[in-house]
Amino acid sequence: ASMKPVNLSVLLKEAYKISRVAIPESTTLEGYFSPEKLTVLGDTTQLQQILINLLKNAHDACGDKALVTVSLAPFSADASFREQHPHTTALNFAQLQVRDSGCGIPKETVAKIFEPFYTTKLAGQGTGLGLSMVYGSVQQHNGIIEVESSPGATCFNIYFPLIQEEE
Ligand code: ADP
Ligand code: MG
Repeated sequence: ASMKPVNLSVLLKEAYKISRVAIPESTTLEGYFSPEKLTVLGDTTQLQQILINLLKNAHDACGDKALVTVSLAPFSADASFREQHPHTTALNFAQLQVRDSGCGIPKETVAKIFEPFYTTKLAGQGTGLGLSMVYGSVQQHNGIIEVESSPGATCFNIYFPLIQEEE
């Protein structure tokens, strides 16, 4: 991966637009991208693939009448965040959140979703590689990924450490 400073707001808005075209209109897709410049050290292709994969999964999980929302905003680590992530020294992040109103992920399988080839989709519909790729890319970017799910709602949060922009 070739890592360079990238403006995540601009980059992910582009990936969002690509996904918007690929996802049927029966899915309501809403996006909020902070106007702030969120600069991270990253690989443009990998970063865009992360969002495209999460949006594809959200759409697949929802069937008709789905609501999928994406947001990208600055996030400052508070005491509880630092306690939960003791190995992270960064304090300022870009937080990417993807929520859907789909089937949810059962508690007993949530630990498996990042494993390569784990899929609950029909043969030919899923490879089970999307989230393992997402996980690997997040690690490469020194990021943090979390998932919360219940029947009817799934939410992925990814935190990317911000860097000071070079003049
Ligand atoms: P694939 O999409 O090819 O099945 P992924 O690695 O992208 O592989 O996802 C693995 C599995 O995790 C999916 O098959 C599905 O069971 C579960 N999953 C991922 N995202 C969601 C979601 N938003 N809602 C419900 N289940 C999900
Ligand atoms: Mg997938």
